Amino acid sequence: MAPISKECDFLVVGGGSGGLACARRASGQWGAKTIAVESKYLGGTCVNVGIIPYPMLIQLISCVPKKVTWNAAAISETLHEAKSYGFNIEQTAPFDWTTFVKKRTAYVKRLNGIYEKNLDKDHVEYIHGRAHLVSKNEVEIVSDDGSKETIRAKKILLATGGHPNLPPSTPGSELGISSDGFFELEKQPKKAALVGAGYIAVEMAGMFHHLGTETHLFIRHDNFLRTFDPMVQDKIISEYEKQGIIIHRNSSQSKVEKLNGDWKRLHYKDSNGEGTLDIDCLLWAIGRAPETEDLGLQKAGVEMDGKGFIKVDEFQNTNVENIYSLGDVCGKVELTPVAIAAGRALGNRLFGGPEYKNSKLDYTNIPSVVFAHPEVGSIGLTEPEAKEKFGEENIKIYKTDFTAMYYAMMEPEDKGPTSFKLICHGPEEKVVGLHILGAGCSEMLQGFGVAVKMGATKKDFDSCVAIHPTSAEELVTLK
Ligand SMILES: Cc1cc2nc3c(=O)[nH]c(=O)nc-3n(C[C@H](O)[C@H](O)[C@H](O)COP(=O)(O)OP(=O)(O)OC[C@H]3O[C@@H](n4cnc5c(N)ncnc54)[C@H](O)[C@@H]3O)c2cc1C
Repeated sequence: MAPISKECDFLVVGGGSGGLACARRASGQWGAKTIAVESKYLGGTCVNVGIIPYPMLIQLISCVPKKVTWNAAAISETLHEAKSYGFNIEQTAPFDWTTFVKKRTAYVKRLNGIYEKNLDKDHVEYIHGRAHLVSKNEVEIVSDDGSKETIRAKKILLATGGHPNLPPSTPGSELGISSDGFFELEKQPKKAALVGAGYIAVEMAGMFHHLGTETHLFIRHDNFLRTFDPMVQDKIISEYEKQGIIIHRNSSQSKVEKLNGDWKRLHYKDSNGEGTLDIDCLLWAIGRAPETEDLGLQKAGVEMDGKGFIKVDEFQNTNVENIYSLGDVCGKVELTPVAIAAGRALGNRLFGGPEYKNSKLDYTNIPSVVFAHPEVGSIGLTEPEAKEKFGEENIKIYKTDFTAMYYAMMEPEDKGPTSFKLICHGPEEKVVGLHILGAGCSEMLQGFGVAVKMGATKKDFDSCVAIHPTSAEELVTLK
C-alpha cells in the first residue's frame, strides 16, 4: 500500500452524477472535508468520458450527447414534415454527421470545465486517478502515470457507475461497438445493425434511422422495451416498422465476419430463419454491468448481490459501517437524476446534522422517458404490475389513441401515433400508473409526475381545466 498522503471526512470514488452531487452537498453545504476521485472525466456516464489523445477524439457517452443527437434526428423529422405545412422542401437536407459530432464534442468539453469549476466552488478537492479500497477507511489511488497515494477517510462513498456488456460468445463480436461507441462514430454508417431491446437500443435505432442510416434492430423476443407498459411496447414497435426500421424478432447472432473497410457480415437467425446482413456498423446494446471489478470490495468486506451490484439498504448504507454506495453501481433505478437525488440525500444525512438523520431518496414513482420516435413517458406501475399488485377487479384503466393536431396537415403515412393510459386503483381511483407516447410526451411527463407523486386521483386530474388545443388535455378529459 502506498503511504498515506491525506486524511479527510469524506472520500467519494467516482466523479459521475451521483458522486459529484454527494461530494458537493457534503462540502459546499455542510463543510465536510471532501475529496472526489475520478479515473476518467468529471461528469461520468451522463455527460461524457475518456479522451484518446491522438486524434483528439472524445468518447462521448450517454444522456447529454444522446439528447443532442436525438434533437438532430427530430429536426430531420420536422424537415420531412415541413412540406405538409407549405414549405417548399423537396427532400430533407443532407446531414453532415462529422460537423455535428465536432460541435457536440465541443459542447461536452465545455460541460467538463463547468463540473471542475463547481467542485472548486464547493471546496471539493479533486484527484484524477483510479481508486480502490485497501481497508474499511483507506483508499489507494493510482494516477495515470502509475504513481500511487493512499487516503484515509472517515466515510467513503462508492459511486462508480457501470459499463456496457459485450457479448462473450459470438465469434467476431469484437467487430461491433457498444453504446459508448455510438458517440465515437466520426462518420455516419450507411447500414447499421443494433442488438438489444432496452431503451438504449431503441433510442439509438431511432436516431440512426431518422438521420438517414438504414437501420436493423435485432431483438431476442418478439417485442422491445419489455419493462414498459404493453401499450408502449406495441405502439412503438409498430411505429418503428412503419417508419422503415427493420426489426428482426426472436433473433440470435452466430458469427460476425470482417469484410473490406468498415464493413462486416452478421450471421443471424430470426423469425424468418437464418440470414446474413452486410453492415458498416454493428452496435451491441445488451445491458450494463456495475463498475466494481478492481474496486477492492472484498478487501473492505463490501457485499454485492448475485449480479455484482453493490448491496445497499434504503439509506444507501452498504454492509460495512461508514461505506456507502449509490447510482448505477447499485443497479436499482439507473438514471442520472436518481443518482443525483440519492447523492444529495446522502450528503444531507451524513453531514447535515439531526434534522437530516432520516434523509433518503424515495424510489417510488420515478418518472422516466424513452427518447424514441415518438417519445415515451412513464411513471408508476404498468398495467400487468397493477393487476398483480391490486387484483384486476381493483384497478380501472382509462386510455385513448388519437392523432395529434400537429399531424392534421399530413398524409396518412406521415401521421404519428399518440396514446395515453391512466391506471387507477381503488374506489377513489388513485392514479398508480401513467403511460404516454407521442410528440412532446417527454416534456409533458414531468408535471404529471408531480401529480402522481402527490397521490392524485382521477377526479383530481379531471378537476384541472384542459389547455386547448394540446395533446396533454386528453389526460384530464379521459372517459
Ligand atoms: C447510452 C446511455 C444513455 C443514457 N441516457 C440517459 C438519459 O437520457 N437520462 C437519464 O437520466 N439517464 C440516462 N442514462 C443513465 C445515466 O447515464 C446513469 O444512470 C448515470 O450516469 C449514473 O450515474 P452514476 O453517478 O451512478 O455513475 P456514472 O455517471 O457512470 O459515474 C461513475 C464515474 O465513476 C468513475 N469510476 C469508476 N470506477 C472508478 C474508480 N475505481 N476510481 C475512480 N473513478 C471511477 C467513472 O469513470 C465514472 O465517471 C444513460 C446511460 C447510457 C449508457
